[in-house]
Amino acid sequence: MTDAAQLQSRKQAVRLRRFLLASTTYALGLLILALCSAFGLLAVADLARIGLSFLAANLVFYAVFRSGWNLRFADPSLTQVQVCVAACLVGFILVWGEHVHFVAVPFYSSIFVFAMLQLNTRQLVAVELFVLGTYGVAIALRMNRYGGSLDLRIEAIDAAVVVLCSIWFAFAASYISNLRERLRESKQTIEALATRDAMTDTWNRRHIDALLASELQRKERIGGQLCVALIDLDHFKSVNDRYGHLTGDAVLQQVAHAMKQQLRSVDPLGRFGGEEFLALLPGASLPDARACAERLLRGVAGLSVLPDAASRVTISIGLAEAVLGEPAEGLLARADGALYRAKHEGRNRVELALRAVH
Ligand code: GH3
Ligand code: MG
Ligand code: MG
Repeated sequence: MTDAAQLQSRKQAVRLRRFLLASTTYALGLLILALCSAFGLLAVADLARIGLSFLAANLVFYAVFRSGWNLRFADPSLTQVQVCVAACLVGFILVWGEHVHFVAVPFYSSIFVFAMLQLNTRQLVAVELFVLGTYGVAIALRMNRYGGSLDLRIEAIDAAVVVLCSIWFAFAASYISNLRERLRESKQTIEALATRDAMTDTWNRRHIDALLASELQRKERIGGQLCVALIDLDHFKSVNDRYGHLTGDAVLQQVAHAMKQQLRSVDPLGRFGGEEFLALLPGASLPDARACAERLLRGVAGLSVLPDAASRVTISIGLAEAVLGEPAEGLLARADGALYRAKHEGRNRVELALRAVH
């Protein structure tokens, strides 16, 4: 399974768990209504009608999540649809349960507990309007059905509780939804700090090592080719000595940027240390990787980054192709050997690693 597929299946599992939590809430509602029925407050036929409507809605959602049909929608959690359906179903309690209207009241609020897990403030306002709208319709049908026999004082207090509590819950849900959004942004920042090299905007050493390990694992499982390119700036010490460290830093940034432009978006580039970088070239044969490395050489040599416009920055590259069963250290050691030869042979060139010996 690819990383993206794994992530998708994890997200789908979370959606299914949330749906099951909602189903439990419906079951709880039905249990309370069954108790009302046992006490003679709700006719068995009305309990059955409400129960069947709950069951039908839950079966449809279950089938949608299990079949993956939800993935076709912009929000695959279908939160907005689920909470709107819930608002209609809670309304059924008012329409079919003359004496059990009080059971519906807390469930109008519980709708917002689910809504705040996914929806933003604008969507929560839409849900609140929908809840109030369906509540209004349910009350109209209730009046029509039971008209004279209702105690209007109790109905009015019921309405005040539903309207005021749903507005309060919508506010609270919006507040928590904003916190959730800020938390998501903080998580992204922390992830970026933990994985990126701030100066060159490439992966940091820890992350490029992890990416290499996962590429090697993938090769073990499903085969395919993988090459690595160890890249070192030539005579970089003298760049620092001549122009100063700040210019040296700017050169590193521009070289990294130029290399990223030459690489495919699927080929990760990481700062291996100091003025050394590591590029992973999954799916590339050694000739493909060599062509790519030559592009990197040309891309960097074409830069005009030094104050002395005539001077050029160059890089040397050691290339190695991973062999099945070879550990990362062995592969990198061979790339390093090739890099050493590239330096020895005059720099600004690519050298291929010796074959792995098993
Ligand atoms: P060679 O062609 O053999 O690689 O020569 P070199 O001068 O590049 O190699 P050497 O390893 O002697 O020097 C590497 C230099 O890179 C020394 C160090 O100061 C510089 N360097 C490493 N990291 C940074 C950095 O983040 N910023 C700056 N400005 N310089 C750095
Ligand atoms: Mg070096
Ligand atoms: Mg160097």
